[in-house]
Amino acid sequence: MGNIVAVVGRPNVGKSTFFNRLIQRREAIVDSVSGVTRDRNYGKSDWNGRSFSLIDTGGYVKGSDDIFEAEIDKQVELAVDEADAIIFMVDVESGVTPMDEEVAVLLRKVDKPVLLAVNKVDNNKRLENAVEFYSLGLGEYFPIASTNGSGTGDLLDALIEKLPEQKAEEETELPRFAVVGRPNAGKSSFINALIGEERYIVTDVAGTTRDAMDTKYNRFGFEFNLVDTAGIRRKSKVKEDLEFYSVMRSVRAIENSDVCLLILDATRGFDGQVQNIFWLAQRNRKGIVILVNKWDLVEDKQTNTMRDYKAMIEREIEPFTDVPIIFMSVLTRQRIFKAIETAVKVFENRSTKIKTRELNDIMLPIIEQNPPPAYKGKYVKIKFCMQLPTPQPQFAFFCNLPQYVRDPYKRYIENKLRKEFDLSGVPISVYFRKK
Ligand code: GDP
Ligand code: GDP
Repeated sequence: MGNIVAVVGRPNVGKSTFFNRLIQRREAIVDSVSGVTRDRNYGKSDWNGRSFSLIDTGGYVKGSDDIFEAEIDKQVELAVDEADAIIFMVDVESGVTPMDEEVAVLLRKVDKPVLLAVNKVDNNKRLENAVEFYSLGLGEYFPIASTNGSGTGDLLDALIEKLPEQKAEEETELPRFAVVGRPNAGKSSFINALIGEERYIVTDVAGTTRDAMDTKYNRFGFEFNLVDTAGIRRKSKVKEDLEFYSVMRSVRAIENSDVCLLILDATRGFDGQVQNIFWLAQRNRKGIVILVNKWDLVEDKQTNTMRDYKAMIEREIEPFTDVPIIFMSVLTRQRIFKAIETAVKVFENRSTKIKTRELNDIMLPIIEQNPPPAYKGKYVKIKFCMQLPTPQPQFAFFCNLPQYVRDPYKRYIENKLRKEFDLSGVPISVYFRKK
Protein backbone atom coordinates (compact mmCIF):
# COMPACT_ATOMS: atom_id res chain seq x y z
CA MET A 1 0.00 0.00 0.00
CA GLY A 2 1.47 3.29 -0.99
CA ASN A 3 0.78 6.91 -0.42
CA ILE A 4 -0.93 8.92 -3.10
CA VAL A 5 0.11 12.47 -3.86
CA ALA A 6 -1.97 14.67 -6.14
CA VAL A 7 -0.69 17.71 -7.97
CA VAL A 8 -3.35 20.37 -8.48
CA GLY A 9 -3.27 23.79 -10.03
CA ARG A 10 -4.54 25.66 -13.03
CA PRO A 11 -3.40 24.85 -16.57
CA ASN A 12 0.14 25.78 -17.70
CA VAL A 13 1.72 26.29 -14.31
CA GLY A 14 4.04 23.35 -15.02
CA LYS A 15 2.34 20.37 -13.38
CA SER A 16 3.16 17.86 -16.09
CA THR A 17 6.75 19.09 -16.37
CA PHE A 18 7.10 18.48 -12.63
CA PHE A 19 5.37 15.13 -12.92
CA ASN A 20 7.61 13.94 -15.74
CA ARG A 21 10.72 14.94 -13.85
CA LEU A 22 9.71 12.85 -10.87
CA ILE A 23 8.69 9.69 -12.65
CA GLN A 24 10.86 9.75 -15.77
CA ARG A 25 13.49 7.12 -15.22
CA ARG A 26 11.32 4.40 -13.81
CA GLU A 27 8.62 4.85 -16.39
CA ALA A 28 11.02 4.52 -19.28
CA ILE A 29 12.10 1.12 -18.00
CA VAL A 30 8.57 -0.14 -17.66
CA ASP A 31 7.56 1.11 -21.08
CA SER A 32 10.21 -0.86 -22.90
CA VAL A 33 9.15 -4.05 -21.18
CA SER A 34 5.40 -3.89 -21.36
CA GLY A 35 5.01 -2.04 -24.64
CA VAL A 36 1.66 -0.85 -23.30
CA THR A 37 0.49 2.70 -23.72
CA ARG A 38 0.79 4.13 -20.32
CA ASP A 39 -1.29 6.59 -18.47
CA ARG A 40 0.79 9.72 -18.60
CA ASN A 41 -0.86 11.21 -15.59
CA TYR A 42 -0.08 8.55 -13.06
CA GLY A 43 3.25 7.17 -11.97
CA LYS A 44 5.35 5.87 -9.16
CA SER A 45 8.11 7.90 -7.65
CA ASP A 46 10.36 7.67 -4.67
CA TRP A 47 12.46 9.99 -2.62
CA ASN A 48 14.95 8.89 0.03
CA GLY A 49 13.54 5.40 -0.02
CA ARG A 50 9.91 6.35 0.45
CA SER A 51 7.80 5.50 -2.55
CA PHE A 52 4.53 7.11 -3.48
CA SER A 53 2.14 7.39 -6.40
CA LEU A 54 1.92 10.71 -8.11
CA ILE A 55 -1.17 11.90 -9.93
CA ASP A 56 -1.12 14.88 -12.24
CA THR A 57 -4.70 16.01 -12.04
CA GLY A 58 -4.05 18.52 -14.80
CA GLY A 59 -3.68 15.69 -17.25
CA TYR A 60 -7.32 14.82 -16.73
CA VAL A 61 -8.73 18.32 -16.63
CA LYS A 62 -6.80 19.82 -19.48
CA GLY A 63 -7.77 22.66 -21.66
CA SER A 64 -8.39 26.32 -21.28
CA ASP A 65 -8.80 28.34 -18.14
CA ASP A 66 -12.56 28.61 -18.47
CA ILE A 67 -13.04 24.85 -18.62
CA PHE A 68 -10.84 24.62 -15.60
CA GLU A 69 -12.88 27.21 -13.79
CA ALA A 70 -15.99 25.06 -14.10
CA GLU A 71 -14.15 21.96 -12.93
CA ILE A 72 -12.00 23.47 -10.25
CA ASP A 73 -14.11 22.61 -7.20
CA LYS A 74 -14.55 19.04 -8.30
CA GLN A 75 -10.91 18.62 -9.18
CA VAL A 76 -9.80 19.82 -5.79
CA GLU A 77 -12.48 17.86 -3.98
CA LEU A 78 -11.48 14.64 -5.70
CA ALA A 79 -7.79 15.23 -5.12
CA VAL A 80 -8.53 15.84 -1.46
CA ASP A 81 -10.71 12.75 -1.20
CA GLU A 82 -8.34 10.41 -2.91
CA ALA A 83 -4.86 11.62 -2.04
CA ASP A 84 -2.82 11.52 1.16
CA ALA A 85 -1.12 14.82 0.36
CA ILE A 86 -1.59 17.61 -2.16
CA ILE A 87 0.94 19.67 -3.99
CA PHE A 88 -0.67 22.92 -5.06
CA MET A 89 1.32 24.37 -7.92
CA VAL A 90 1.31 28.04 -8.91
CA ASP A 91 3.33 30.02 -11.43
CA VAL A 92 5.60 32.91 -10.44
CA GLU A 93 5.54 34.20 -14.02
CA SER A 94 1.84 35.01 -13.85
CA GLY A 95 1.80 35.84 -10.15
CA VAL A 96 -1.23 35.23 -7.96
CA THR A 97 -4.36 34.85 -10.11
CA PRO A 98 -8.02 34.84 -8.97
CA MET A 99 -8.16 31.15 -9.73
CA ASP A 100 -5.18 30.45 -7.48
CA GLU A 101 -7.04 32.28 -4.75
CA GLU A 102 -10.11 30.17 -5.30
CA VAL A 103 -8.12 26.95 -5.03
CA ALA A 104 -6.38 28.30 -1.92
CA VAL A 105 -9.73 28.92 -0.25
CA LEU A 106 -10.68 25.29 -0.84
CA LEU A 107 -7.32 23.97 0.31
CA ARG A 108 -7.19 26.02 3.49
CA LYS A 109 -10.11 23.96 4.80
CA VAL A 110 -8.41 20.66 4.13
CA ASP A 111 -6.97 18.60 6.94
CA LYS A 112 -4.43 16.78 4.79
CA PRO A 113 -0.91 18.05 4.09
CA VAL A 114 -0.92 20.75 1.42
CA LEU A 115 2.38 21.93 -0.02
CA LEU A 116 2.48 25.12 -2.02
CA ALA A 117 4.97 24.91 -4.88
CA VAL A 118 5.80 28.15 -6.64
CA ASN A 119 7.08 27.02 -10.02
CA LYS A 120 9.23 28.63 -12.72
CA VAL A 121 11.50 30.26 -10.17
CA ASP A 122 14.46 30.21 -12.55
CA ASN A 123 16.38 33.25 -11.27
CA ASN A 124 16.88 35.53 -8.26
CA LYS A 125 14.42 38.13 -9.46
CA ARG A 126 11.72 35.47 -9.54
CA LEU A 127 12.78 34.24 -6.13
CA GLU A 128 11.96 37.70 -4.78
CA ASN A 129 8.66 37.80 -6.64
CA ALA A 130 7.61 34.47 -5.16
CA VAL A 131 7.02 36.20 -1.83
CA GLU A 132 3.62 37.39 -3.01
CA PHE A 133 2.28 33.82 -2.72
CA TYR A 134 2.26 34.21 1.07
CA SER A 135 -0.98 36.06 0.45
CA LEU A 136 -2.67 32.73 -0.37
CA GLY A 137 -2.69 31.99 3.35
CA LEU A 138 -1.14 28.54 3.00
CA GLY A 139 1.98 29.40 4.95
CA GLU A 140 5.44 28.37 3.84
CA TYR A 141 5.97 27.89 0.10
CA PHE A 142 8.56 26.05 -1.95
CA PRO A 143 10.16 27.92 -4.82
CA ILE A 144 10.99 25.42 -7.56
CA ALA A 145 11.88 25.21 -11.23
CA SER A 146 10.43 22.06 -12.74
CA THR A 147 12.43 22.39 -15.93
CA ASN A 148 15.79 22.01 -14.17
CA GLY A 149 14.74 20.48 -10.88
CA SER A 150 16.00 23.21 -8.60
CA GLY A 151 14.15 23.40 -5.28
CA THR A 152 12.33 20.13 -5.85
CA GLY A 153 14.55 18.34 -3.30
CA ASP A 154 13.40 20.58 -0.46
CA LEU A 155 9.81 20.20 -1.57
CA LEU A 156 10.07 16.40 -1.58
CA ASP A 157 11.84 16.34 1.80
CA ALA A 158 8.92 18.25 3.28
CA LEU A 159 6.42 16.05 1.45
CA ILE A 160 7.91 12.80 2.76
CA GLU A 161 7.97 14.17 6.26
CA LYS A 162 4.28 14.95 6.09
CA LEU A 163 3.06 11.76 4.45
CA PRO A 164 1.21 9.46 6.82
CA GLU A 165 2.99 6.22 7.74
CA GLN A 166 1.99 3.29 5.59
CA LYS A 167 1.89 -0.32 6.53
CA ALA A 168 3.59 -2.79 4.22
CA GLU A 169 1.28 -4.93 2.12
CA GLU A 170 -0.04 -7.41 4.62
CA GLU A 171 -0.66 -10.97 3.68
CA THR A 172 -4.30 -11.06 4.63
CA GLU A 173 -6.11 -14.31 4.37
CA LEU A 174 -9.16 -12.81 2.74
CA PRO A 175 -8.93 -11.67 -0.87
CA ARG A 176 -9.27 -7.94 -1.33
CA PHE A 177 -11.16 -7.19 -4.51
CA ALA A 178 -11.28 -3.86 -6.29
CA VAL A 179 -14.03 -3.37 -8.84
CA VAL A 180 -12.72 -0.98 -11.46
CA GLY A 181 -13.60 0.24 -14.92
CA ARG A 182 -14.95 3.17 -16.86
CA PRO A 183 -18.03 5.07 -15.80
CA ASN A 184 -21.22 3.21 -16.74
CA ALA A 185 -19.56 -0.15 -17.25
CA GLY A 186 -21.77 -1.55 -14.50
CA LYS A 187 -19.50 -1.39 -11.44
CA SER A 188 -22.17 -0.26 -8.98
CA SER A 189 -24.66 -2.75 -10.34
CA PHE A 190 -22.10 -5.50 -9.99
CA ILE A 191 -21.20 -4.48 -6.46
CA ASN A 192 -24.86 -4.36 -5.50
CA ALA A 193 -25.25 -7.84 -6.91
CA LEU A 194 -22.25 -8.96 -4.88
CA ILE A 195 -23.35 -7.35 -1.70
CA GLY A 196 -26.94 -8.40 -1.98
CA GLU A 197 -28.75 -7.43 1.13
CA GLU A 198 -27.21 -5.64 4.06
CA ARG A 199 -27.08 -8.79 6.13
CA TYR A 200 -24.20 -10.09 4.06
CA ILE A 201 -22.03 -7.35 5.41
CA VAL A 202 -20.04 -8.82 8.21
CA THR A 203 -17.95 -5.93 9.40
CA ASP A 204 -16.39 -2.64 8.45
CA VAL A 205 -12.67 -2.57 8.92
CA ALA A 206 -11.18 0.87 8.76
CA GLY A 207 -8.27 0.99 6.35
CA THR A 208 -5.01 2.79 6.71
CA THR A 209 -6.53 6.10 5.78
CA ARG A 210 -9.81 7.60 6.69
CA ASP A 211 -11.52 7.16 3.38
CA ALA A 212 -10.13 3.84 2.22
CA MET A 213 -12.22 1.06 3.63
CA ASP A 214 -12.15 -2.66 3.44
CA THR A 215 -15.58 -4.10 3.90
CA LYS A 216 -15.86 -7.78 4.52
CA TYR A 217 -18.49 -9.81 2.70
CA ASN A 218 -19.65 -13.35 2.80
CA ARG A 219 -21.43 -14.26 -0.36
CA PHE A 220 -21.82 -17.23 -2.69
CA GLY A 221 -19.88 -19.23 -0.15
CA PHE A 222 -16.82 -17.01 -0.49
CA GLU A 223 -15.45 -14.53 1.98
CA PHE A 224 -13.75 -11.45 0.61
CA ASN A 225 -13.09 -7.81 1.26
CA LEU A 226 -14.37 -5.20 -1.12
CA VAL A 227 -11.96 -2.31 -1.42
CA ASP A 228 -12.85 1.36 -1.53
CA THR A 229 -16.55 1.01 -1.22
CA ALA A 230 -16.43 4.46 0.35
CA GLY A 231 -15.81 5.90 -3.09
CA ILE A 232 -18.79 4.04 -4.46
CA ARG A 233 -21.08 5.22 -1.72
CA ARG A 234 -20.17 8.79 -2.53
CA LYS A 235 -21.18 8.27 -6.10
CA SER A 236 -24.35 10.31 -5.97
CA LYS A 237 -22.41 13.32 -4.77
CA VAL A 238 -20.04 13.65 -7.66
CA LYS A 239 -21.15 12.83 -11.12
CA GLU A 240 -18.52 10.57 -12.56
CA ASP A 241 -18.72 11.81 -16.09
CA LEU A 242 -15.07 12.64 -16.43
CA GLU A 243 -12.35 10.08 -16.96
CA PHE A 244 -10.40 11.86 -14.28
CA TYR A 245 -12.72 10.79 -11.50
CA SER A 246 -12.78 7.17 -12.44
CA VAL A 247 -9.01 7.06 -12.73
CA MET A 248 -8.54 8.78 -9.37
CA ARG A 249 -10.86 6.26 -7.77
CA SER A 250 -9.19 3.38 -9.54
CA VAL A 251 -5.75 4.32 -8.30
CA ARG A 252 -6.71 4.12 -4.66
CA ALA A 253 -8.79 1.00 -5.04
CA ILE A 254 -6.17 -0.81 -7.13
CA GLU A 255 -3.34 -0.01 -4.76
CA ASN A 256 -5.25 -1.40 -1.81
CA SER A 257 -6.37 -4.60 -3.51
CA ASP A 258 -5.03 -8.06 -4.25
CA VAL A 259 -7.18 -8.67 -7.30
CA CYS A 260 -8.75 -6.15 -9.65
CA LEU A 261 -12.03 -6.99 -11.28
CA LEU A 262 -11.87 -4.89 -14.42
CA ILE A 263 -15.37 -4.41 -15.76
CA LEU A 264 -15.98 -3.27 -19.28
CA ASP A 265 -19.11 -2.58 -21.25
CA ALA A 266 -19.35 -5.17 -24.04
CA THR A 267 -20.99 -2.63 -26.32
CA ARG A 268 -18.10 -0.19 -25.93
CA GLY A 269 -15.15 -2.52 -26.16
CA PHE A 270 -11.65 -2.28 -24.80
CA ASP A 271 -10.67 1.32 -25.44
CA GLY A 272 -7.70 3.37 -24.34
CA GLN A 273 -9.15 4.23 -20.95
CA VAL A 274 -9.83 0.61 -20.14
CA GLN A 275 -6.29 -0.14 -21.22
CA ASN A 276 -5.01 2.50 -18.82
CA ILE A 277 -6.82 0.92 -15.92
CA PHE A 278 -5.56 -2.52 -16.94
CA TRP A 279 -2.08 -1.10 -17.07
CA LEU A 280 -2.45 0.45 -13.62
CA ALA A 281 -3.35 -2.93 -12.17
CA GLN A 282 -0.57 -4.74 -13.98
CA ARG A 283 1.90 -2.08 -13.01
CA ASN A 284 0.98 -2.51 -9.38
CA ARG A 285 1.40 -6.27 -9.78
CA LYS A 286 -2.19 -7.02 -8.82
CA GLY A 287 -4.20 -10.02 -9.90
CA ILE A 288 -6.56 -9.22 -12.77
CA VAL A 289 -9.85 -10.64 -14.04
CA ILE A 290 -11.54 -9.03 -17.02
CA LEU A 291 -15.32 -9.00 -16.82
CA VAL A 292 -17.06 -8.21 -20.08
CA ASN A 293 -20.40 -6.95 -18.81
CA LYS A 294 -23.74 -6.31 -20.55
CA TRP A 295 -23.27 -9.44 -22.63
CA ASP A 296 -27.09 -9.48 -22.86
CA LEU A 297 -26.88 -6.43 -25.14
CA VAL A 298 -24.70 -8.13 -27.73
CA GLU A 299 -27.06 -9.21 -30.46
CA ASP A 300 -26.74 -12.07 -32.91
CA LYS A 301 -24.31 -14.02 -30.83
CA GLN A 302 -22.72 -16.75 -32.92
CA THR A 303 -20.46 -19.59 -31.89
CA ASN A 304 -17.44 -17.41 -32.55
CA THR A 305 -18.63 -14.16 -31.01
CA MET A 306 -17.12 -14.83 -27.63
CA ARG A 307 -13.92 -16.27 -29.05
CA ASP A 308 -13.42 -13.28 -31.36
CA TYR A 309 -14.12 -10.82 -28.58
CA LYS A 310 -11.60 -12.58 -26.38
CA ALA A 311 -9.00 -12.48 -29.14
CA MET A 312 -9.62 -8.76 -29.57
CA ILE A 313 -9.00 -8.10 -25.87
CA GLU A 314 -5.89 -10.25 -25.89
CA ARG A 315 -4.45 -8.17 -28.70
CA GLU A 316 -4.99 -5.06 -26.58
CA ILE A 317 -3.32 -6.43 -23.47
CA GLU A 318 -0.27 -8.03 -25.05
CA PRO A 319 2.14 -9.32 -23.93
CA PHE A 320 0.38 -10.12 -20.64
CA THR A 321 -2.47 -12.16 -22.10
CA ASP A 322 -2.70 -14.91 -19.50
CA VAL A 323 -5.73 -13.23 -17.93
CA PRO A 324 -9.17 -14.76 -17.37
CA ILE A 325 -11.93 -13.11 -19.37
CA ILE A 326 -15.52 -13.70 -18.27
CA PHE A 327 -18.56 -12.69 -20.29
CA MET A 328 -21.32 -11.72 -17.93
CA SER A 329 -24.51 -9.79 -17.49
CA VAL A 330 -25.21 -8.22 -14.15
CA LEU A 331 -28.73 -7.52 -15.40
CA THR A 332 -29.61 -11.16 -16.06
CA ARG A 333 -27.17 -12.38 -13.40
CA GLN A 334 -25.41 -14.48 -15.99
CA ARG A 335 -22.00 -15.70 -14.72
CA ILE A 336 -21.83 -13.38 -11.72
CA PHE A 337 -20.95 -16.35 -9.58
CA LYS A 338 -18.34 -17.41 -12.12
CA ALA A 339 -16.81 -13.93 -11.90
CA ILE A 340 -16.33 -14.19 -8.14
CA GLU A 341 -15.13 -17.74 -8.34
CA THR A 342 -12.53 -16.73 -10.91
CA ALA A 343 -11.41 -13.75 -8.83
CA VAL A 344 -10.89 -16.03 -5.84
CA LYS A 345 -8.90 -18.40 -8.05
CA VAL A 346 -6.67 -15.55 -9.23
CA PHE A 347 -6.15 -14.55 -5.62
CA GLU A 348 -4.99 -18.10 -4.89
CA ASN A 349 -2.73 -18.12 -7.94
CA ARG A 350 -1.17 -14.89 -6.75
CA SER A 351 -0.47 -16.42 -3.34
CA THR A 352 1.05 -19.57 -4.86
CA LYS A 353 4.28 -20.66 -3.23
CA ILE A 354 6.05 -23.23 -5.38
CA LYS A 355 8.52 -25.43 -3.56
CA THR A 356 12.11 -24.95 -4.68
CA ARG A 357 12.54 -28.65 -5.33
CA GLU A 358 9.45 -28.86 -7.54
CA LEU A 359 10.38 -25.71 -9.41
CA ASN A 360 13.86 -27.00 -10.21
CA ASP A 361 12.64 -30.47 -11.13
CA ILE A 362 10.35 -28.94 -13.73
CA MET A 363 12.29 -25.91 -14.97
CA LEU A 364 15.86 -27.24 -15.19
CA PRO A 365 15.05 -29.91 -17.82
CA ILE A 366 13.16 -27.28 -19.84
CA ILE A 367 16.17 -24.98 -19.67
CA GLU A 368 18.52 -27.80 -20.56
CA GLN A 369 16.48 -28.54 -23.68
CA ASN A 370 16.47 -24.93 -24.72
CA PRO A 371 19.26 -22.99 -23.01
CA PRO A 372 19.77 -19.23 -23.47
CA PRO A 373 21.45 -18.60 -26.83
CA ALA A 374 25.15 -17.83 -26.70
CA TYR A 375 25.82 -14.12 -26.54
CA LYS A 376 29.12 -12.66 -27.76
CA GLY A 377 30.45 -16.20 -27.81
CA LYS A 378 29.65 -16.78 -24.14
CA TYR A 379 27.39 -19.49 -22.78
CA VAL A 380 24.96 -18.81 -19.98
CA LYS A 381 24.57 -21.68 -17.54
CA ILE A 382 21.48 -21.61 -15.36
CA LYS A 383 22.14 -23.71 -12.30
CA PHE A 384 19.26 -23.23 -9.97
CA CYS A 385 15.99 -21.35 -9.49
CA MET A 386 13.64 -20.37 -6.71
CA GLN A 387 10.54 -18.38 -5.98
CA LEU A 388 11.27 -15.32 -3.88
CA PRO A 389 9.41 -14.79 -0.59
CA THR A 390 7.37 -11.83 -1.87
CA PRO A 391 3.58 -11.34 -1.65
CA GLN A 392 3.22 -11.89 -5.40
CA PRO A 393 5.13 -14.40 -7.54
CA GLN A 394 8.69 -13.48 -8.40
CA PHE A 395 11.28 -15.96 -9.56
CA ALA A 396 15.05 -15.85 -9.50
CA PHE A 397 17.21 -17.91 -11.86
CA PHE A 398 20.81 -18.17 -10.79
CA CYS A 399 23.45 -18.35 -13.48
CA ASN A 400 27.03 -17.45 -14.35
CA LEU A 401 26.35 -14.52 -16.71
CA PRO A 402 22.95 -12.94 -15.94
CA GLN A 403 23.74 -9.86 -18.00
CA TYR A 404 23.76 -11.98 -21.16
CA VAL A 405 20.19 -13.23 -20.78
CA ARG A 406 18.09 -11.24 -23.24
CA ASP A 407 14.41 -10.30 -23.12
CA PRO A 408 13.13 -12.97 -25.52
CA TYR A 409 14.58 -15.67 -23.29
CA LYS A 410 13.06 -14.06 -20.21
CA ARG A 411 9.70 -14.16 -21.95
CA TYR A 412 10.28 -17.78 -22.91
CA ILE A 413 10.88 -18.65 -19.26
CA GLU A 414 7.84 -16.68 -18.15
CA ASN A 415 5.68 -18.54 -20.67
CA LYS A 416 6.99 -21.88 -19.51
CA LEU A 417 6.29 -20.99 -15.88
CA ARG A 418 2.76 -20.03 -16.88
CA LYS A 419 2.35 -23.28 -18.73
CA GLU A 420 3.59 -25.46 -15.91
CA PHE A 421 2.01 -23.65 -13.00
CA ASP A 422 -1.37 -21.96 -12.76
CA LEU A 423 -0.51 -18.27 -12.74
CA SER A 424 -3.52 -17.11 -14.71
CA GLY A 425 -4.39 -13.48 -14.03
CA VAL A 426 -1.18 -12.83 -12.13
CA PRO A 427 1.64 -10.55 -13.29
CA ILE A 428 4.91 -12.28 -12.42
CA SER A 429 8.56 -11.21 -12.39
CA VAL A 430 11.48 -13.26 -13.61
CA TYR A 431 15.00 -12.26 -12.58
CA PHE A 432 18.37 -13.63 -13.55
CA ARG A 433 21.00 -13.35 -10.89
CA LYS A 434 24.64 -14.17 -10.47
CA LYS A 435 25.19 -17.46 -8.72
P1 GDP B 1 0.55 22.06 -16.87
O1 GDP B 1 -0.52 22.47 -17.79
O2 GDP B 1 0.37 22.64 -15.50
O3 GDP B 1 0.80 20.59 -16.84
O4 GDP B 1 1.91 22.77 -17.39
P2 GDP B 1 3.11 22.18 -18.29
O5 GDP B 1 3.96 21.27 -17.50
O6 GDP B 1 2.55 21.69 -19.56
O7 GDP B 1 3.98 23.51 -18.52
C1 GDP B 1 3.46 24.68 -19.13
C2 GDP B 1 4.61 25.50 -19.67
O8 GDP B 1 5.43 25.97 -18.61
C3 GDP B 1 5.54 24.69 -20.59
O9 GDP B 1 5.87 25.50 -21.69
C4 GDP B 1 6.76 24.44 -19.71
O10 GDP B 1 7.93 24.29 -20.46
C5 GDP B 1 6.79 25.67 -18.86
N1 GDP B 1 7.49 25.41 -17.58
C6 GDP B 1 7.27 24.36 -16.73
N2 GDP B 1 8.12 24.45 -15.68
C7 GDP B 1 8.88 25.54 -15.87
C8 GDP B 1 9.96 26.16 -15.10
O11 GDP B 1 10.39 25.68 -14.06
N3 GDP B 1 10.48 27.31 -15.62
C9 GDP B 1 10.03 27.86 -16.77
N4 GDP B 1 10.60 28.97 -17.19
N5 GDP B 1 9.06 27.30 -17.52
C10 GDP B 1 8.48 26.16 -17.06
P1 GDP C 1 -20.95 2.26 -13.04
O1 GDP C 1 -20.90 3.70 -13.44
O2 GDP C 1 -19.80 1.48 -13.62
O3 GDP C 1 -21.11 2.03 -11.58
O4 GDP C 1 -22.25 1.63 -13.78
P2 GDP C 1 -23.71 1.34 -13.20
O5 GDP C 1 -23.70 0.13 -12.33
O6 GDP C 1 -24.28 2.59 -12.64
O7 GDP C 1 -24.45 0.92 -14.56
C1 GDP C 1 -24.59 1.82 -15.64
C2 GDP C 1 -25.82 1.44 -16.42
O8 GDP C 1 -25.66 0.18 -17.05
C3 GDP C 1 -27.07 1.33 -15.55
O9 GDP C 1 -28.14 1.88 -16.27
C4 GDP C 1 -27.24 -0.17 -15.37
O10 GDP C 1 -28.57 -0.53 -15.17
C5 GDP C 1 -26.74 -0.69 -16.70
N1 GDP C 1 -26.22 -2.07 -16.60
C6 GDP C 1 -25.36 -2.58 -15.67
N2 GDP C 1 -25.10 -3.88 -15.91
C7 GDP C 1 -25.84 -4.22 -17.00
C8 GDP C 1 -25.99 -5.43 -17.76
O11 GDP C 1 -25.41 -6.49 -17.49
N3 GDP C 1 -26.81 -5.37 -18.85
C9 GDP C 1 -27.45 -4.23 -19.22
N4 GDP C 1 -28.24 -4.27 -20.29
N5 GDP C 1 -27.34 -3.09 -18.54
C10 GDP C 1 -26.54 -3.06 -17.45
